Amino acid sequence: PASCARARLTAFLDGPAEQYATGRDRPGSEGSSRLSPHLRFGEISPFRVWQETRENFPGQAPADVGIFKSELGWREFCWQLLYENPSLATRNYRPEFDRFEWQPPSDAELTAWQQGRTGYPLVDAGMRQLWQTGWMHNRVRMAAASFLVKNLLADWRVGEAWFWDTLVDADAASNPANWQWVAGSGADASPYFRIFNPVTQSKKFDAGGRYLRKFVPEIAGMDDQTIHEPWKAPGQAAGYPSPVVGLPESRERALASYQKLKNG
Ligand SMILES: Cc1cc2nc3c(=O)[nH]c(=O)nc-3n(C[C@H](O)[C@H](O)[C@H](O)COP(=O)(O)OP(=O)(O)OC[C@H]3O[C@@H](n4cnc5c(N)ncnc54)[C@H](O)[C@@H]3O)c2cc1C
Repeated sequence: PASCARARLTAFLDGPAEQYATGRDRPGSEGSSRLSPHLRFGEISPFRVWQETRENFPGQAPADVGIFKSELGWREFCWQLLYENPSLATRNYRPEFDRFEWQPPSDAELTAWQQGRTGYPLVDAGMRQLWQTGWMHNRVRMAAASFLVKNLLADWRVGEAWFWDTLVDADAASNPANWQWVAGSGADASPYFRIFNPVTQSKKFDAGGRYLRKFVPEIAGMDDQTIHEPWKAPGQAAGYPSPVVGLPESRERALASYQKLKNG
């Protein structure tokens, strides 16, 4: 309800807002506003969020607060894109990607991704957070989406559809725009050759493994180093799967497909 949305905004502005630039990248802590479901269902408007943010920081707002406001701008940008491109969820924004040779994922690969059993802890923690809570941290959304689209070479629409079905903030504009951003086919998209490495991301943004331990209990007992790469300690993670695909070779495969697209 609207009262919860207002309370959440107040708590954010009085707390994590001033450390937003770094806090928003740590999935193990609450460093972002978590307003997305409220915005999605109109329980609070972006105008109110913007205005209250301004009022909370009169004069020169801290840089972190400016970054938060720019994220609200991304939301507006996504809606502008959808307005101009009603088929944003079904068609590549950049038509040259119509020639990209996505590989339909096998049932085993797709299920592993959806159920959080890829063998890559950050991706798996994110996909389980999504299934259990209906929300996923933004940094992990990027890593999980990149893994599907680049390491598994699946069409971004496969992932968009799953997020659409499972996210509590599933948004007709932000969801396809961000999937296309990750895939490289979108407006102002991340370049295709930028492939998130889930191990590097995990070590950088969840160094102590707090987020991993919460959502992947099979590896909770591992030390802070091994937890990011559990296959390096066979036998220590009972019930946790081996990697569904190798990172170096799947990365090379993705880059080769992109090169083919570029060469025409
Ligand atoms: C593959 C993928 C799919 C996504 N699908 C959705 C979706 O369906 N619905 C959705 O609301 N967001 C989506 N996002 C964007 C982002 O992950 C969420 O908006 C954010 O995690 C929500 O958490 P928050 O409210 O704590 O965000 P905060 O960091 O507190 O940001 C404040 C608000 O700004 C907006 N915002 C932040 N980042 C983005 C962004 N990249 N694009 C558009 N708006 C943004 C949101 O409305 C958010 O509530 C997606 C991102 C990726 C990578």
